[in-house]
Amino acid sequence: MRKFQFQPILAPNFQILSMADLHQEMNSKIDHIQSKFSIPRGQCRIMLHENWDFGDFPSQIPKNSNFNQSTVTEPIKGECEICCQEEAELMGYCCHVACENCWSSYISDKVDKQKTSMIQCLKCQQWIPDDIIEKVLEGNEQFLEQFEMLKMKHYVESQKNNLISCEKCPNFIRFFLPNGAKKMDITCECGLKMCSKCQKEPHDPVSCENYAKWWRILLEMIENPTTRWMMNNTKDCPNCFSRIEKWGGCDVIKCWKCQVQFCWNCFVGVNHMTQHVCDKSPESQNRRGGDLRLEFYYKGFLKHFGKSLTTKNETLQKSQKTLELAYIFAYFQPGTSQEFLKLLNVLESKTEKFQEFLDSEGPKPQEILEKKAQILEIQTKKLLDYCNNPASVWEDTVPAMVKAPRIPIEQIVIPTLIWMCVLAGFTLDPVFFNFGSIFPAFLYITPTIADKLPPIIGNLFYNLSYYVILVLLLIISLLVTVFRNLGGFFTNASRFLAAAHGTIDLFVHPPPHV
Ligand SMILES: [Zn+2]
Ligand SMILES: [Zn+2]
Ligand SMILES: [Zn+2]
Ligand SMILES: [Zn+2]
Ligand SMILES: [Zn+2]
Ligand SMILES: [Zn+2]
Ligand SMILES: [Zn+2]
Repeated sequence: MRKFQFQPILAPNFQILSMADLHQEMNSKIDHIQSKFSIPRGQCRIMLHENWDFGDFPSQIPKNSNFNQSTVTEPIKGECEICCQEEAELMGYCCHVACENCWSSYISDKVDKQKTSMIQCLKCQQWIPDDIIEKVLEGNEQFLEQFEMLKMKHYVESQKNNLISCEKCPNFIRFFLPNGAKKMDITCECGLKMCSKCQKEPHDPVSCENYAKWWRILLEMIENPTTRWMMNNTKDCPNCFSRIEKWGGCDVIKCWKCQVQFCWNCFVGVNHMTQHVCDKSPESQNRRGGDLRLEFYYKGFLKHFGKSLTTKNETLQKSQKTLELAYIFAYFQPGTSQEFLKLLNVLESKTEKFQEFLDSEGPKPQEILEKKAQILEIQTKKLLDYCNNPASVWEDTVPAMVKAPRIPIEQIVIPTLIWMCVLAGFTLDPVFFNFGSIFPAFLYITPTIADKLPPIIGNLFYNLSYYVILVLLLIISLLVTVFRNLGGFFTNASRFLAAAHGTIDLFVHPPPHV
């Protein structure tokens, strides 16, 4: 494959390209196709277009598509079917022909009004190759230039899953997502930072969907304050923010999650036993409460919103931005974990202290500044890691058993082996020896499978399979004891009974083999 000449790569996973670079890139691809299939150059871009969905380079000439390899027909004399002009010079690309005037006005209209570089035949779906379009537009510099622009636009659009244009400067950025990533943060040459997927400002750890949703919610809130803030029959617990629905009854409500009791109207914490006289009038009842959860995270978000824009110190900027986004992130999580709130609070106070240090007068030795910045950086990373680790975010919403860590290996091996040895020693039954040889295989296979699964599911699988093995061992021990050795017990018991009756002599008659 031909190598393209790019500008120097600024970061290992994205590159800045100018319009000229892209133009060159497109032309190199067209050259490549031409050299490979030896078809007229005007058809190469069409062919590239037909294959854009499948990759950069077509491996063969597309069949059964609107790509036609036939060449321009020689002009013939006859009546134009479009404008009915008689004795006209008719030309065409496929089996459909028209006079020069008709072609000219049709193609000019496509380029000038419909702004497209992919033009089909007047009567059918066949794509018209570039050289014909350029020939028709000959002499009209403005339209030719426009056509060239449209070709580029089309090419850029075809690359949109890894190419975006900068909103601030005329550059383009081609990005290469790390394995498994859906988006990445990109910095253009001009300094503009953006998300590769939604092209908004970087918003890690919030997903593109939630980030867009957040702004929609805020917009809705600003436009119509009553919709979100003042809902009547669902309110959030003032203690844990769980959503609570009121189904008639009295106004003292108990949260289903944290059991806190509060008054539905005024949100004052009340005890059902003591008489609460609500001082809220019936009119104001409907105007209080609502989405306390949104209120909480919105206020937190506002505390930090926009602060990073005026900050020059990069570390502080990052921590301020992280705080702003962490509130959005948390709003969309099903539960708020105490661990998360703790991390958030620590970062908030560390950020504030660092800001105070920067704002304070007096000397700031480089060494101390670096040390303080490093501490803040670590704290920022902690919060981001917490958000990006699905196991931690699940906290509070998943039962403890599901997210339990793996049972330590010695807790599995030692009791199981002791149990097996005891059973094997007592019964001398081959089942336990066989089981003893399967067990090491289990110890090897289970973690191998568990490691391939996502962390929480892997741990759950690991622990569950251990319980399954334990239950299996229990069942086998029971079965063996009952069916194999109980027989022996009865035989022995009947012999003892017989001996007691004097029917047999225990020391003369050997026990029957069981
Ligand atoms: Zn005509
Ligand atoms: Zn046609
Ligand atoms: Zn830019
Ligand atoms: Zn995004
Ligand atoms: Zn009551
Ligand atoms: Zn609650
Ligand atoms: Zn009240």
